[in-house]
Amino acid sequence: MSVRSVTILGATGSVGTSTLDLVEREPDRFRVAALTAQRDVDGLAAAARRTGAALAVIGDPARYEDLKAALAGTKTRVASGEQAIVDAAALGADWTMAAIVGIAGLRPTMAALAGGGTVALANKESLVSAGALVTDAAQAHGATLLPVDSEHNAVFQCFDHAAPGSIRKITLTASGGPFRDWSIEAMRAATPAQAVKHPNWSMGAKISVDSATLMNKGLELIEAFHLFPLPADGFDAIIHPQSVVHALVDYVDGSVLAQLGTPDMRTPIAHSLAWPQRMATPCRPLDLAAIGRLDFLAPDHERFPALTIALEVLAAGGARSAILNAANEVAVAAFLDGRIGFLDIALIVRKALDRYDPPAPVSIDDVFAIDAGARRAAQAAMEIMTA
Ligand code: NDP
Ligand code: MG
Repeated sequence: MSVRSVTILGATGSVGTSTLDLVEREPDRFRVAALTAQRDVDGLAAAARRTGAALAVIGDPARYEDLKAALAGTKTRVASGEQAIVDAAALGADWTMAAIVGIAGLRPTMAALAGGGTVALANKESLVSAGALVTDAAQAHGATLLPVDSEHNAVFQCFDHAAPGSIRKITLTASGGPFRDWSIEAMRAATPAQAVKHPNWSMGAKISVDSATLMNKGLELIEAFHLFPLPADGFDAIIHPQSVVHALVDYVDGSVLAQLGTPDMRTPIAHSLAWPQRMATPCRPLDLAAIGRLDFLAPDHERFPALTIALEVLAAGGARSAILNAANEVAVAAFLDGRIGFLDIALIVRKALDRYDPPAPVSIDDVFAIDAGARRAAQAAMEIMTA
């Protein structure tokens, strides 16, 4: 098999380092074209040295000299700034991991798609905010968009792409997060440290908080709508505390196909890295006898209003999902900063959606304008709330 060039956007994060772990195990199969990070010079430089990356880009321009010094004496080219990340994505690697967190990943993801290669998408916020603009770009440039989010990767593996009309429903599982069994009163006092302590998955801070509010599952239902051709009411979520079944696909004949695995992001990442083939991973094999039982229960919309809000947004379409995403990013950052309480996250998102109702975006610039408007609306709601 020929060597594939690989670019990792967000190489220092949770998904980025898992991707590096797999790529580094098979140096004969993969050659690293570019690695990017925002602030973590040490992590980026170490990864570039280990892999012999052709290019390393740090988003924060103030850290350019540090990165240059850290990579002195190597063949790795160094660059910095937001545009340099987009340029790195545009280099046209055979395979690109889009693992920047938040809407910051949108332009780099679009640039990677324009290169026409394979784009493994972890950065769900891009798809939630820009939806069809992302999938249309993939199609227009002949790029292959592969879902890395574990639930969507599971659906991708169970979905009969030749007969989408034979599928009536897609169900994504959710662990329920660290507050699955907490009362509303207990959640009101929940701290950032408690919220980022996920029971099954080890992830970045933002998605960990999203998992605690269940907003992550809401974002994922919207993500799934853009990846798989079913009507908006064809997507649902179910709580499954063990995180062993990742998603279920219901066919019209009553068959339900599911994908199972030990909760380890290296499995879906490896699936997208080797696709359409398979590659071995060091992930712990699934031992169902040791796990003993698999539980499923309906989500509690009263304690987790973020899921209800996201379902309303999915049904409404238009600009609503870009507003949802931006307001959530603002609220999660404020919560992690200790400026608002845990339950305020969903309240702020709800208020931003109530206050702001622009028309649907028709370009990426429109998406960024809506994103900015939603951030202002969320900020205003937050100021009233904390006054
Ligand atoms: P992390 O916070 O661990 O990592 C984020 C990465 O993006 C880091 O490399 C970070 O650089 C970089 N980054 C942060 N801000 C910016 C910015 N403004 N511009 C450019 N780069 C930036 O996140 P995760 O790895 O957990 O998540 C990444 C994405 O994947 C998210 O969209 C998440 O929803 C999705 N995802 C994650 C899963 C997981 O298991 N973690 C599972 C499924 C999806 P630096 O380190 O320098 O700050
Ligand atoms: Mg997921």
